[in-house]
Amino acid sequence: MSEPHPTIRPRPGILDIALYVGGESRLAGRKALKLSSNENPYGPSPRAIEAFHAAAADLALYPDSGHGALRRAISETHGLDPERIICGAGSDEILTFLAQTYAGEGDEVIYTEHGFGMYRIVALAASATPVVVAERERRVDVDAILAACTDRTRLVFLANPANPTGTLLAEEEVRRLAGGLPAAALLVVDGAYAEFVGADFDGAAGLVDARDNVVMTRTFSKIHGLGGLRVGWGYGPRHVIEALNRVRGPFNLSGAALAAAEAAIRDTAHTEDCRAKNAENRARLAADLTALGIPSDPSEANFILARFSSTAEAEACDAALRDAGIIVRRVAGYGLPHCLRITIGDAEGCARVTQAIRAFAGARV
Ligand SMILES: *Cc1c(COP(=O)(O)O)cnc(C)c1O
Repeated sequence: MSEPHPTIRPRPGILDIALYVGGESRLAGRKALKLSSNENPYGPSPRAIEAFHAAAADLALYPDSGHGALRRAISETHGLDPERIICGAGSDEILTFLAQTYAGEGDEVIYTEHGFGMYRIVALAASATPVVVAERERRVDVDAILAACTDRTRLVFLANPANPTGTLLAEEEVRRLAGGLPAAALLVVDGAYAEFVGADFDGAAGLVDARDNVVMTRTFSKIHGLGGLRVGWGYGPRHVIEALNRVRGPFNLSGAALAAAEAAIRDTAHTEDCRAKNAENRARLAADLTALGIPSDPSEANFILARFSSTAEAEACDAALRDAGIIVRRVAGYGLPHCLRITIGDAEGCARVTQAIRAFAGARV
């Protein structure tokens, strides 16, 4: 980092932001099995790819600034009010809108000990004060969050299922959290992995409908396999969506992204297929690693958090996986230096992971 300029300075907080480091995809220049960013190993729906190609015919035209067709598709698929849906360039953009709209200098933004890295970034970018609350054995602790609330609390970010732990906070606990917040605070339930829990899991949509202080965010980057396109959405009370829409740029999503996302969410058979395969592969991988002495918490997402006996063991296993051409995610930055987050690949990818870790474990005894 260069020296700060003597007179031209960013707002408070901005220079405290540590740049987000994404998952790597190459090892020494060769393509690797990338299990570091929770991408969908089966890719998007073929209909989404078709819609993306078809959108090439209209590249000269500005896209629909109201996202009407995509909001309708989301509303029909999930049974939600289309007027209370907002779409963004990834759910990261919705998180940014929320921080920009509700938090500023002197305001507090709460997230938990192992919470997703973007929460700190969007809080600092808004010049707000991040407040980190302890978890209990890699699970969100509602009482600890409520105890950390003050009259300066404006936002509480909660991923459910959580990343990188994969753990799920029970529905009644999320409801208790929403009910206990100070009057000026908004609860953001980040449902990036909600689809992996099960077809009947609503990711807090019901809670959004029942209250006026809860927003849910969702993404097309995970189960829908469109991480490269950058599409996400939020569902909230009318007063929140109306405020966020004032901050949102009118053309924040390209026509191709809108078309592909619409086709993706309407292909519910593809979504269901990906969910079922993920659950099967996840159960097998978790059981195989547990049998090798590497436990993980029950995960409801498309990754598992493998726990090693020490930081050194986790680092050594990461090195062994790299030697085998496999990239997983170190999560020391999330307060979990003895763990590795492993995205659930297809059956063959998971088998490669098990094989590499078995060889690693065998060489250590
Ligand atoms: C991947 C992820 C997101 C999604 O980010 P996009 O900007 O939609 O790609 C949001 N929250 C969490 C916790 C994630 O892991």
